[in-house]
Amino acid sequence: MSDCLFCKIIDGTIPSTKIYEDEHVYAFTDIMPVAKGHTLLIPKQHCQDLFEMPEDVARNLYAVAPKIANAIKAAFQPIGMNTINNNGAAAGQTVFHYHLHFIPRYDEKEGLNLNWQTQKYTSEQLIEVADSIKANL
Ligand code: 5GP
Ligand code: ZN
Repeated sequence: MSDCLFCKIIDGTIPSTKIYEDEHVYAFTDIMPVAKGHTLLIPKQHCQDLFEMPEDVARNLYAVAPKIANAIKAAFQPIGMNTINNNGAAAGQTVFHYHLHFIPRYDEKEGLNLNWQTQKYTSEQLIEVADSIKANL
């Protein structure tokens, strides 16, 4: 896509700090890292988000995820790592070419602050939710 920032990074029109590349994917450092080693993994085939991602693109992308995670781990010895993918502006997506964030965690004070507010569901409600999703698979 000609007006897509990450497509331009893949074709080299916009510079990036490459970490890994193969036929299907490209990995590079996030320009505004949340923590040391913050890396983005993207498919070379443009798709806006997970909703639009074909299965083979997903397969090829996630096949590389352990390699990237383990390289970051070996380089910087984080004590944990979040892999995050934002889909849609409401979910925090700002670049509309699918990307998987690898965010290493070092201690509680740095960058990423995930504050999950959990909700109470009865087992009947959980079954109802599951049935609604299953009906759409
Ligand atoms: P999102 O908010 O869409 O999940 O994440 C987009 C990410 O892309 C952000 O973390 C942002 O720092 C990163 N980003 C935006 N523009 C560029 C760029 O030109 N180069 C690189 N390497 N990262 C970028
Ligand atoms: Zn793109």
